[in-house]
Amino acid sequence: QSAGQSDLLDGLNPEQREAVEYRGPALLIVAGAGSGKTRVLTHRVASLIESREAWPSQILAITFTNKAAAEMRERVEQLLGQASQGMWISTFHSACVRILRREAENFGFTKSFTIYDSADSRVLIKRIIKELQADTFGFTVGSVSAKISKLKNELADVESYARTANFADPQEALFVEIFRQYTRSLQAANAFDFDDLISQTVFLFRAFPRVAEQYRRRFRHILVDEYQDTNHAQYSLIHELTLSPGSVDPGQPPVEGASLTVVGDSDQSIYAFRGADIRNIVEFERDYPGAKVVLLEQNYRSTQNILSAANAVISNNFDRKDKKLWTAIGDGDRILGYTGYSGHDEAQFVADEIAKLHDAGTAYKDIAVFYRTNAQTRALEEIFIRSALPYRVLGGTKFYERAEIKDVMAYLISVANPQDALALRRILNSPKRGIGPATETQLASFAEANEISYREAMRRAPSLGLGPKVTSAILQLAGLLDEASELIDPEREQGPAPVFDVLALLLEKSGYLTALRAKRDPQDEARAENVEELLAVTKEFGKNNPDGGLIDFLTEVSLVAAVDDLDDSSGTVSLMTLHTAKGLEFEAVFLTGIEEDLLPHRMSANEPGGPAEERRLFYVGITRARKRLYLSLAMTRAQYGETAVAMPSRYLQEIPAELIEWVQSPGMATSRGGTQPRALNANRSSRQGWGSTGSQSTSDFPALPPRPKAEWANTITNKVRDNGDLELAPGDRIRHSDFGEGRVNQVTGEGTKRVAHVLFESAGAKKLLIKIAPIEKI
Ligand code: ATP
Ligand code: MG
Repeated sequence: QSAGQSDLLDGLNPEQREAVEYRGPALLIVAGAGSGKTRVLTHRVASLIESREAWPSQILAITFTNKAAAEMRERVEQLLGQASQGMWISTFHSACVRILRREAENFGFTKSFTIYDSADSRVLIKRIIKELQADTFGFTVGSVSAKISKLKNELADVESYARTANFADPQEALFVEIFRQYTRSLQAANAFDFDDLISQTVFLFRAFPRVAEQYRRRFRHILVDEYQDTNHAQYSLIHELTLSPGSVDPGQPPVEGASLTVVGDSDQSIYAFRGADIRNIVEFERDYPGAKVVLLEQNYRSTQNILSAANAVISNNFDRKDKKLWTAIGDGDRILGYTGYSGHDEAQFVADEIAKLHDAGTAYKDIAVFYRTNAQTRALEEIFIRSALPYRVLGGTKFYERAEIKDVMAYLISVANPQDALALRRILNSPKRGIGPATETQLASFAEANEISYREAMRRAPSLGLGPKVTSAILQLAGLLDEASELIDPEREQGPAPVFDVLALLLEKSGYLTALRAKRDPQDEARAENVEELLAVTKEFGKNNPDGGLIDFLTEVSLVAAVDDLDDSSGTVSLMTLHTAKGLEFEAVFLTGIEEDLLPHRMSANEPGGPAEERRLFYVGITRARKRLYLSLAMTRAQYGETAVAMPSRYLQEIPAELIEWVQSPGMATSRGGTQPRALNANRSSRQGWGSTGSQSTSDFPALPPRPKAEWANTITNKVRDNGDLELAPGDRIRHSDFGEGRVNQVTGEGTKRVAHVLFESAGAKKLLIKIAPIEKI
């Protein structure tokens, strides 16, 4: 059942409609947060298909995450009432991988190339720095990888860079050599790093006009969300596809470039450090003369109080066009501010408020906690675990970054891409087979000298004059990989085997899992579980992608972004960095650590444009909230291995005082009159307009909890309960300090990890870690 054009326009305001209906070569939608930019893009895609102006296959829509892409696809299909096969809705990276898989053979790569994540690149760079002894010249893995990434985002390859480099400067000459070796290693390994995916696609289009033309003819409509965060390489990619350069074949009709729609908000540009160029949006009208510009001013996401705070903060950035964002939702609650003694105290506040929200009917999945740095999660997680709050951290140590998962993935990659020496070298002695680093290097030199793949070098191990044991270990591994390769051979009689079968074979015959299980270390137990989890992932993949092969699986895994872990049905509170939060929205949002050195981050406070970019980050955070916004900070913060006095963020005073209600630490009332921490006093007197009226009312910033520290420390330790010996069995009734009374349905786990599955009368089903949950048997 199709929605029809008019239904597609329902639920849109006149400006949004105009943007959906406009037809022309270029359309720019600039608008503040929550004004329906993403919604307009979605409706526009549906409208193009519905009106039969475009086939689904003629549309390329670029979103910021795979999750956003999946959502947009689902929404478009919902609007159209039909599946839209062949429509490309994806991230820049995914779109480029698809193009490269088809076209890589044009320039010396194969379809089965590997994608190196930043950890892989770093291993490679580390090796090169060591070989060239470049560390003595002050090169570090971090500095080299940042520089190479920056160059690639600006579309500079090693040769173009070398042309302008000053070789009289030994430092620069050495960098060129590192860059060159890095590029060569990638080529030899049949691998692209993350930045290559975009830049190599652009190079491909430029070097092979015929290929470019094929994609230009295909995509008639290109739509890009979050355009303010595109970097030069991404910008160029779009430009290549929207050009109208005539036709390669004189006989063919000339190609007309695709029509381009971009939406963005320069106030939300937060990726300058990755090369995002705000000018792409500012100069759109110059690059696409005659472009239609639509402004959206109504915000549909947040209450007026939240919006006013956001507007007030961002208006402190100069060099921007002022936007008048308004909402019809009403004022809503005031923002709740909280100053804690420490990060732990702050975390306790967050946990307590979440419990209140939950009791009042807000689902956990509608609540998010944001922070500037990953290190801040530690305190939050500790308290959340104690409070038995279900949560998940997005983009922390990702599953796929764990060592054991990387090992197992390296097995799969070695099968898919025999040229990938990095992956092979990783698994050579994992599990331990008695193959040492010297042998590893010897194989590498042998492969290089004979211009053969690393796996071929392994097959020829007998000619290397190694000991019989080592030789046989190498041959055995090579044999296993060959056996697995046969499983995925497209020519195989039964067709290529499912990824699950390949992985099962590798795990069984390599002895990897057995080796993990043989160790007594509980850490290794967890590792074995993770590997089993990966096995389950491959099974799931096979179910969802009946035609999906090993390469499809590897591609999918290498492209998951932090936010892609977000699963709405999971019923957990989401913890994430401010960067990850972009484009998302939640009923209630906690912005934590609103302090100097964190926001603005100490690394950017003195960079040109740094404080302005950090302010935009704050703006992004504030505008994620629909109804409730919480701002919190601590007076001391454990950071970089020490506890330091923290100062309130300069951005806090940019929010009009009447919008925030500052609350006090629990227990404060009983111990009034303590001394105020010096940091805050100093701040208060040195800054004009701090808390606009200067009055001392409790709602004024900041509410100082004047309690002696020792007493507070006590409270914290009191909260660490230990029910270690509490015996619970199904049927027992318990009382929980927050959830009230309930019945135990099941007890799982052992020792300190025992978990009670409880059905509470009012709070519903919960899982509690018995050792520390605030419960008693009744
Ligand atoms: P951001 O800048 O944060 O990416 P955005 O401009 O992309 O925000 P959307 O996410 O598209 O905004 O929309 C924000 C919210 O407002 C969404 O929940 C969306 O469904 C809703 N919304 C947008 N337009 C309308 C409308 N005309 N009527 C009702 N709700 C709307
Ligand atoms: Mg959006």
